[in-house]
Amino acid sequence: MKSPAREGDSEPITEVPVEVMHPRLGDRSDENTPSLTRLKDVHEDRKDQGTPGLALGTVAGVPVYVARSWFLIALLITLAFLPAARAVAPQPAATLISFSFALFLYLSVFLHELGHAITARAFGLPVRAIILHLLGGVTHLEREATRPGASFLIAAAGPLLSLLLAAAGLAVDLLADLPPVPELLLRALTLTNLTVGVFNFLPGLPLDGGFLLRAVVWKLTGKDRTGTMAAAHAGRVLALIVLTGGIFLATRGAGVDWISVIWAAFLSSFMWIAATQSIRAERLRDRIPLLQARRLGRRAVAVTADTPLAQALETARAAQAGAMVIVDHDGRPTGLVSEQAVKAVPEHRRPWVSAGEVSRALSGATTLPADLSGTGLIDALRDSGAAEHLLVEPGGEIYGVLSARDLDRLLART
Ligand SMILES: [Zn+2]
Repeated sequence: MKSPAREGDSEPITEVPVEVMHPRLGDRSDENTPSLTRLKDVHEDRKDQGTPGLALGTVAGVPVYVARSWFLIALLITLAFLPAARAVAPQPAATLISFSFALFLYLSVFLHELGHAITARAFGLPVRAIILHLLGGVTHLEREATRPGASFLIAAAGPLLSLLLAAAGLAVDLLADLPPVPELLLRALTLTNLTVGVFNFLPGLPLDGGFLLRAVVWKLTGKDRTGTMAAAHAGRVLALIVLTGGIFLATRGAGVDWISVIWAAFLSSFMWIAATQSIRAERLRDRIPLLQARRLGRRAVAVTADTPLAQALETARAAQAGAMVIVDHDGRPTGLVSEQAVKAVPEHRRPWVSAGEVSRALSGATTLPADLSGTGLIDALRDSGAAEHLLVEPGGEIYGVLSARDLDRLLART
């Protein structure tokens, strides 16, 4: 057993703010595993989501996915289009025509997204994926544009492509004399592309028009934060307009068009939630400069790998430490006791389990300078993906242990 690693250091690590102070190892009541979800909100792509869904293939070097929710909406579109298809063809051809309308519609959505993707790539921003889902599609970029001009053009490319498709559809419709089935599909697609193009130009996040507004305000004020806040608040207003406007239109006729009411409610809540997320992410981003490894670090005690866990925990308690570092017999750190693994060991087993058994070996990724802060700190934690990190002084001495969870907790207080 070694003395506490922080002993003799003049700068007491317990001077962390109260909100990040935390129960000692082994007394944890909540069982959540550390997550950097909130950091991802702040730091990853603005439209990031969970599992992408089924892989369709790669187009122009960009992986394309279809979310599982798409199949539901494809079914609904097929059903909704069926009466129009029935007017030009008997069954079962009418169902086939309806389904092909759903497919063509999503092909249009895909081309819209491809517009964003190709423009982003032209500005040197790598595209991670295009995902088609319930409400259309999203293009995930590896990183955001750093200039308002690029951001503006990337956002504009999508709806412009939709309008271009609508114009092409209109031109074909005017110039060619088509049989009833292709004519029906062409007109329906022209109308939907026009709708998608115009709707996406509405100036509020999460719509493309919101990104245009954001870029304009960013250009005028020189601050992307101001742009995001303006566009996100505009997005909330738009969400309310979509809701009230949708209900107004749906109840104007003889009876209430419930499908339109539900659709308006669904769309507006999606917009409201996404706009609110942008506001929240921006507020989280404000806190990034406050993130300093030195302030967040927990006091740690050093124990050798063969120390019984019960004894190591007792030493940590006595030293009011929140973490344990495994050291070799020369006092060099070799591993970190995992909080998660400690919790998995029942109280009565702890005298018979060694501290080394519940530890993870240190690596370059889990050893961080105590002076790391801001986005550098977030990137380091994301890259390692580990729950605990050793903080070291420039001279290599142990400063303490940084738990990813403490960082999460600090960010949660928005
Ligand atoms: Zn778009």
